[in-house]
Amino acid sequence: MNRLEIDLKKLEHNFVTLKSLLNKNTKIIGVVKADAYGGGQFEIVEKLISLGIDTLAVGYTAEGLNLRKLNIKVPIIVFYPQLLNLTEIVKNKLEPSLYSKKTWASFKKIIEEEKIKNYPVHIKYNTGLNRLGFSYDDTIWVRQEIKNSPFIIKSIYSHLGESEAPKPNKACKNQITTFEKIKMSHKEDRDREIDFHILNTSGVFNYPNFQYDAVRIGIGFHGYANNFDWDKKLKPIAKLKSIITQIHNVKKGDLVGYNSGWKAPKDTRIGVLPIGHADGISRGYSSSNAWVNVNGMKAYIVGNICMDMLMIEIGDIFCNEGDVVEIFGELNSANDFSKKNKTISYELITGVGPRIKRVFLS
Ligand SMILES: *Cc1c(COP(=O)(O)O)cnc(C)c1O
Repeated sequence: MNRLEIDLKKLEHNFVTLKSLLNKNTKIIGVVKADAYGGGQFEIVEKLISLGIDTLAVGYTAEGLNLRKLNIKVPIIVFYPQLLNLTEIVKNKLEPSLYSKKTWASFKKIIEEEKIKNYPVHIKYNTGLNRLGFSYDDTIWVRQEIKNSPFIIKSIYSHLGESEAPKPNKACKNQITTFEKIKMSHKEDRDREIDFHILNTSGVFNYPNFQYDAVRIGIGFHGYANNFDWDKKLKPIAKLKSIITQIHNVKKGDLVGYNSGWKAPKDTRIGVLPIGHADGISRGYSSSNAWVNVNGMKAYIVGNICMDMLMIEIGDIFCNEGDVVEIFGELNSANDFSKKNKTISYELITGVGPRIKRVFLS
């Protein structure tokens, strides 16, 4: 019934397009957190590796562990390790990003106790997003620590807060200026071949001059770049499909769904789809002007979304029980659909629930 179709050929198209925007020597870090943006970690990782990606990144330790269990051997950066996970990181040869004096000291202690030399780590600086990261003022401390640490510093990086915003953008500019200063102060540590990076997908389009040594791409592989013109260069890889379970004829004034969420303004037809808020179609889409694609026609979601189902008005659209319905995909991108719930493609695609089968086209 429901399925999330993932087209790996389109993933390849996106990879090739993004790569064409990069300088010859810029490395790509494949960001596959949150089950590869909801698309299915294993298949997407396999495809990325077959395309030549040699470093992956996840959000949390358990995600990296999963990849190791699936026998993925390439370096895996853990962007946001928690103190409690540091032992597991070492056991599974994951590469932590160290973002505070505390994470640094704790990880150093573990590595020294294990008598390991040259353990690969990444250093994260906060340059203005004010999420995780060392601050610019910590640079002296970090430099001192690098000198007598059991680590190999593979990269030093930061993250932009609004890389998709039209230029000139003051916040991004300030972040990049701070990152430049950080990079300068680490100049003498550079004989260790540290990679510097600050760009995500939108950054690749918006700030091509600041690729440094690597870029970190996630959403771009899925066909989105947070801007109408950039999106046009990419192809959405995922289509969320459902079917019409039952059709009702309703009369003007009839009520549809929980809490009388919708009252038919005229005699019409209602289709019931077996997908609900437990599957990632948030209750926010209830009577929200959001539509799904029924045989090429727009059918609007009516009434309150239930846990397991939702209702659409099909009116006189030619369709039958059992017909396939596309919730988002080609005609209706995840980007456009998500706007109806005042959110973004990232939230919609990573929220597609575990009950929905992932089907891969290659
Ligand atoms: C998720 C994430 C990315 C990927 O961003 P996209 O916009 O999906 O390309 C890059 N860097 C960091 C630190 C992230 O957390």
